[in-house]
Amino acid sequence: MYWSKTFIPTLKDAPQEAESESHKLLLRAGMIRMLMAGVYSYLPLGYRALMNIQDIIRQEMQASGAAEVLLPALQPLELWQRSGRDKDIGEVMIRFTDRKGRKICLGPTHEEVITDLVRQQVSSYKQLPVVLYQIQTKFRDELRPRFGLVRGCEFIMKDAYSFDRDEQGLDKNYQLIFAAYERIFKRCGLGVLSVEADSGVMGGSVSHEFMVPAQEGEDNVLFCAVCHKGFPAKENAALNCSKCKGKLEKVSTLEVGHIFKLGTKYSSVLGANFVDAQGKMQPIIMGCYGIGVSRLISAVVEQNHDANGIIWPMEVAPYKVIILPLDITEPKIMEQANNLHARLEGAGVTVLLDDRDERAGVKFKDADLLGINLQLVIGKQFLKDGTLELKERGKEEKNAVTAEGVLEKIRAALHG
Ligand SMILES: [Zn+2]
Repeated sequence: MYWSKTFIPTLKDAPQEAESESHKLLLRAGMIRMLMAGVYSYLPLGYRALMNIQDIIRQEMQASGAAEVLLPALQPLELWQRSGRDKDIGEVMIRFTDRKGRKICLGPTHEEVITDLVRQQVSSYKQLPVVLYQIQTKFRDELRPRFGLVRGCEFIMKDAYSFDRDEQGLDKNYQLIFAAYERIFKRCGLGVLSVEADSGVMGGSVSHEFMVPAQEGEDNVLFCAVCHKGFPAKENAALNCSKCKGKLEKVSTLEVGHIFKLGTKYSSVLGANFVDAQGKMQPIIMGCYGIGVSRLISAVVEQNHDANGIIWPMEVAPYKVIILPLDITEPKIMEQANNLHARLEGAGVTVLLDDRDERAGVKFKDADLLGINLQLVIGKQFLKDGTLELKERGKEEKNAVTAEGVLEKIRAALHG
């Protein structure tokens, strides 16, 4: 991709609205823009990072045996009245009446919709288990949207729902998805604490939160430096680890995932039953498993940046290589830049070519801000002896490489 053909409006300074470090960097790097408080557009680079995160999630959810669905954002309020959650969830749910007088809400979550769907299709133990997941936009009337993509009124979630005939089946799916979450967060370059948590408005017996330590967090977690177990930080809470007695430290965190053993909370009130092997009617046993997909971008940037900009983890990066021809008026330099761009694309390496007529200093600053993993510089030295400079974002050392050997060097750097 050529810089001139995409849309990367970088900023020297962060806009006034920016609160946290990730919020500032995502705005400055031209990845997102605010439409109104809590509502954002994803520009080409931010959208590529978002799609990469979604790809990782899809791969790991499918590996854990879940099938993808797409569910409606418009939901009849009547369904929420049947589960009783229209009252519990309160003003956070966006409701309206359509021209036919139907009371409708914009889905803040989908437990009712999916339980009703499965209720109508599943009647026998022979049809269970079923595990479905969705990646889509959800809505909340947030009183105080915060930190850009972290707490918005419109946000992208991955939610999975498991339907089992017994507790053992639920345990198995819970463990499988727990393990998938650990792989997802690792591939996103995140250090995550898993904490046994309250189930809150979702209900159910057991739940775990996945928390990312971040400078500007929303919640505090108590963390055991000895056995690495996390605990919810409550007022009168113990200062020593209940597992190993190690000293607990308070860490500021962002929640990126939350999984719940719901049991029969939704199936019993919505009538999602099945006939077991003995011919007896039973409510289906459920679990639900969320990841805040859009806020994951912010969490990744919170944990992966320096004073100069973002340092994308390899699998999330919008492009793997940025080519920096330092003088675009020099035909030999541009010829080599175009040639390398074509070779890299041909080799399946995503690449951005900065073909702007800008000073070298501007190009270097923007390349650091965007956080693309490898910077390939074609400057004066190339005209002298044919060498290019290869630099990894976040590292000081620069390596002189020849145009012939550069693909090999890039492959080695990308596959570590
Ligand atoms: Zn401990």
